[in-house]
Amino acid sequence: MSRSVRTRPAGSGRHLSEAYDTALLDLDGVVYAGGDAIAHAVDSLAAARDGGMHLAYVTNNALRTPDAVAGHLTELGIAADAADVITSAQAVARLIAEQLPSGARVLVIGGEGLRVALRERGLEPVESAEDDPAAVVQGYGGPELPWGRFAEACYAIARGVPWYASNTDLTIPGDRGIAPGNGAAVEVVRIATGAEPQVAGKPLPPMHRETILRTGARRPLVVGDRLDTDIEGAFNGEVDSLLVLTGVTDAPQLLAAPPRHRPTYVDADLRGLLTGQPEVTGDADGGFGCGGWTATAGEERLELAGEGEALDGLRALCAAAWTAGGKEACGLDAGKALARLGL
Ligand SMILES: [Mg+2]
Repeated sequence: MSRSVRTRPAGSGRHLSEAYDTALLDLDGVVYAGGDAIAHAVDSLAAARDGGMHLAYVTNNALRTPDAVAGHLTELGIAADAADVITSAQAVARLIAEQLPSGARVLVIGGEGLRVALRERGLEPVESAEDDPAAVVQGYGGPELPWGRFAEACYAIARGVPWYASNTDLTIPGDRGIAPGNGAAVEVVRIATGAEPQVAGKPLPPMHRETILRTGARRPLVVGDRLDTDIEGAFNGEVDSLLVLTGVTDAPQLLAAPPRHRPTYVDADLRGLLTGQPEVTGDADGGFGCGGWTATAGEERLELAGEGEALDGLRALCAAAWTAGGKEACGLDAGKALARLGL
């Protein structure tokens, strides 16, 4: 990757919704959590859209169809139709269609989102290893997916049929805790077969390519809550990104991010689309300033002095930590500095 190492969050004098033509928004942890909208998401998205920003929703979840996702967004009060939703099922269907003849049979281990995406690419979903499939595709099938579906995948893969996975997210965070995601299901088949799937979802290039092809974005901004999918996907696609702190990433993880996981911008929630972003000034010798804060890297810990908005303090700390870490993750203790910010 030729991209230079990011050592501080970027500033923007313009509102992000004006500086970028299209927001490529992750869903869970950004727009909603479980079934409910995240605070400020509905109003912020409406304002960004009214201001002329194109909004697209990009999800690694292959279970639901774009229609179903758009319906959910509409229920929450977010105007969206199926064409505004891009799923890893669509990305993996394109990948398969590029490698197999039109009309090829594909054994589906997963849900309706995969079947619809395969048909859209002229492929024929089948249900059994006895149906002579030319490929196996595995996507999240929901909690009711029977164990026997994995056996069908294994029978076909053992005969040399190529194997594809929509995504490899190991976990799905929910109200009651952490549930196994499609990546865990892929591991079951990998262990049983010794084979390796081709994977489409974030942070890999097929998903980013699908998103750009479908949106026509010229100056996209990836908006996500997860460093190893959303932000790394933006890094791999060489586009800018905004991390929001409404999902799975907390401040210590952000400070300890290696270069491919460092976002261009960080903000509390989607209101960040409607503002500029403050510059982080200074350097390692004199300290990094943002708002009323100054952050420095000591021998063992990050230090923070001053006062002001918590997010500005975090931005200054990002610069201190990322500069100290360089091409690696910063291992300095940030506990005391973050306690001052209430983060
Ligand atoms: Mg997410």
